[in-house]
Amino acid sequence: MNIAENIKSFKAEIPEEVTLVAVSKTKPESDILEAYNAGQRIFGENKIQEMTEKWENLPKDIKWHMLGHVQRNKVKYMAEYVNLIHAVDSLKLLKEIEKQAKKYDRTIECLLQIKIAEEDTKYGIDVDEADSILQSQAYREMTHVKVVGLMGMATLTEKEEKIKKEFSYLKTTFDNFKSRYNSLHTLSMGMSGDYKIAIECGSTMIRVGSAIFGERNYN
Ligand SMILES: *Cc1c(COP(=O)(O)O)cnc(C)c1O
Repeated sequence: MNIAENIKSFKAEIPEEVTLVAVSKTKPESDILEAYNAGQRIFGENKIQEMTEKWENLPKDIKWHMLGHVQRNKVKYMAEYVNLIHAVDSLKLLKEIEKQAKKYDRTIECLLQIKIAEEDTKYGIDVDEADSILQSQAYREMTHVKVVGLMGMATLTEKEEKIKKEFSYLKTTFDNFKSRYNSLHTLSMGMSGDYKIAIECGSTMIRVGSAIFGERNYN
């Protein structure tokens, strides 16, 4: 894998209005630096502890995105620096983010994760739940948390039509929400295997790991 080359070719390939998140989970800091030196500044991780260690050691102009499911008791470890939390799935979690962000006098941007895949994944909420979070008095009174968009993951399948259907559904939902909540501007969908379809369907932020850094080894 030539990481610098991969970053450059992604930047050249994707439309200007689409943001690239380089997903560096499980990858060493040297890999991140290689991408950084090729101009990449946004990196995504899915474990708070791993992300925090990398934040401590790496250049401070990196924007760190939390992609994975967030346990409420761990929000405090990333509140000082996290830039965007992609997978918010409850008002309770937003309340905790609000509380921790306040300690650092920061505003943390979040996305609500909408369940769009057919697979019985544990994470993500449906459109009505997302709507009721955004409408709630509790959310509207928050001053250190801002929901700026939606995130979704399509079914892991070779069937392009199915992926397209799921992404299109999320895009329609996003447009509908955007017309009613004016803080929304980001639609995070698309990974290494399906980012092209996601962009076709209106994604504004893709999260790409293995196509940049190579396959992950979880051992
Ligand atoms: C790991 C991960 C990605 C990147 O996956 P690749 O297939 O390696 O591009 C994207 N989004 C989320 C939420 C992830 O956990």
